[in-house]
Amino acid sequence: MYKASCLCASVELQIDGAISEIIHCHCSRCRKSSGTAFATNGFVHINALTVIQGQQNIKSYSAKAGSNKYFCSVCGSPLFSQNSADPKRVRLRLGIIDSDITERPNSHNFCTSKANWEQLNDRLPHYKRHEPNRSKPPKD
Ligand SMILES: [Zn+2]
Ligand SMILES: [Zn+2]
Repeated sequence: MYKASCLCASVELQIDGAISEIIHCHCSRCRKSSGTAFATNGFVHINALTVIQGQQNIKSYSAKAGSNKYFCSVCGSPLFSQNSADPKRVRLRLGIIDSDITERPNSHNFCTSKANWEQLNDRLPHYKRHEPNRSKPPKD
């Protein structure tokens, strides 16, 4: 079980399950929405995510049709995103997790969109888009 919270701590989330397919995404949307070089995101099953407190502060923004990015409306922390083509899973922003986690990132994605000042020095694979082995939305 993992706990997560936003910067102002008004939103608290609990994750009761594994976080899968964690990647560092360097696409322009992730750079802008995070204000940093990349966003680190992983899948969590929708039933494994509980809003412990602060539901009223969670607002969403749709940067493209079918996709919603959820954030704390008080402090602006990105929380997770959801895609209508993948309704059983959310894409959690890993930086909001307060616990130590056992899962680790797999790769750097959308590397051709990375900021020109960013240098990637680790040994994870670098991909132009999504990692080629990304799983399809689950049926249940
Ligand atoms: Zn907040
Ligand atoms: Zn991205």
